[in-house]
Amino acid sequence: MVASDAVRALLPMLLLAAVGATAPATKGEDLHSRAMRIHKSAIVVDTHEDVPEQLEKEWVDIGVRQKTGHVDIPRWREGGVTAPFLAAYVSSSYAASGKSAKKALELIDLIRRLVESHPRDLVFADSVRGVRVAKKEGKIAVLIGIEGGHAIEDSLAALSAFHRLGVRYMTLTHTNTNNWADSAGSFFSFSYDPAKTAVHNGLTDFGREVVLEMNRLGMLVDLSHVSDKTLADVLAVSAAPVFASHSSCRAIANMPRNLTDDAIRAIGAKGGVVMVNVSSTFVDQKVVDDFVARKRALAPKAAEIAERYKDDPKKRDQETTALLENLRRPRASWTAVVDHIEHVMKIAGARAVGLGTDYDGIEDPPDGLEDVSKLPALTEELLRRGHSEEEVRGVLGENLLGFWERADAARANAPPGKEPMPFSKP
Ligand SMILES: [Zn+2]
Repeated sequence: MVASDAVRALLPMLLLAAVGATAPATKGEDLHSRAMRIHKSAIVVDTHEDVPEQLEKEWVDIGVRQKTGHVDIPRWREGGVTAPFLAAYVSSSYAASGKSAKKALELIDLIRRLVESHPRDLVFADSVRGVRVAKKEGKIAVLIGIEGGHAIEDSLAALSAFHRLGVRYMTLTHTNTNNWADSAGSFFSFSYDPAKTAVHNGLTDFGREVVLEMNRLGMLVDLSHVSDKTLADVLAVSAAPVFASHSSCRAIANMPRNLTDDAIRAIGAKGGVVMVNVSSTFVDQKVVDDFVARKRALAPKAAEIAERYKDDPKKRDQETTALLENLRRPRASWTAVVDHIEHVMKIAGARAVGLGTDYDGIEDPPDGLEDVSKLPALTEELLRRGHSEEEVRGVLGENLLGFWERADAARANAPPGKEPMPFSKP
């Protein structure tokens, strides 16, 4: 054997040593097998799944693989999901009717019942430790986030009580501006008008109190759905790192539910994370443009419906929603989701990104990521693009857990809150 032959013989081993710095690839393992091995052993956190909303539309046994929706236990298993945050989503309509807290309570109860009725597969969790223990025991850790700050009905005591019930994040607004925080508005509705939801110029003084109380309780502050000004105000006041549970990057797909590069940078600099939404309309500019064009074309028809049912708001909303839902939107390719993950990495660092799919809350998952069972495809694509195993594990869940630990540490350092009034004045 001449010298050059010896080098050639050694080359594969040298390459393996260079690539597999964190975990050497098993001999003969191809990319797909490596991806599956890493994915199955990783902690996979998805910070936004609308399973309760889907169950309200159509009650099914989540223990059985379904043909509808995006999530059930078999598909969680196939997708390698360790810890889904289920959304206790309180529709903006409850803000008007004044029963937002009741609705949130019912959803929290529903989520707890789902867990209790599937004890072999599911376990309730409200901490980083709970997630890690579930992984060790081969169970899926179900967590709760409230979506829509109107759920607390302007009561810090209600916020605290929700925390005691196990809620670990709250999205400060949904598509509605509430009494203390401006929303980014309802991009998907015909009535979308950001000027109308810019009511408080961001966060009010009470809104600041809500954020500080969330810091004190250990309730993660979620910035998805809020206006850019609210986001900036929260970043300025929060004593703990904050996150966006299901938003993508505006630089790639320009729509108001996505985050600007400035916001992504600031969230990362504060120790927070951006959890990428997989909806086609969140990840692909062509899909955004197509949606805007279709909405514009249907606007006269929507105006006609609004006029016809002006005395029947329920019927009006049904008809306009049907008008939008009947639109067949084009689908993005699943690789667009990886473009967003890489964009957050580029802007804020590899530790500032994770997954907040919004499954069961979106109509248009991309081709190749049709439901939660397809998540391992993301791991394979990240590896294919040259990301290290450590980076991939970060995206899958470790980044979120690290953020949560930093938020918990900030809580430990927080001054004791002033004693909140335990009940509202009559
Ligand atoms: Zn949402």
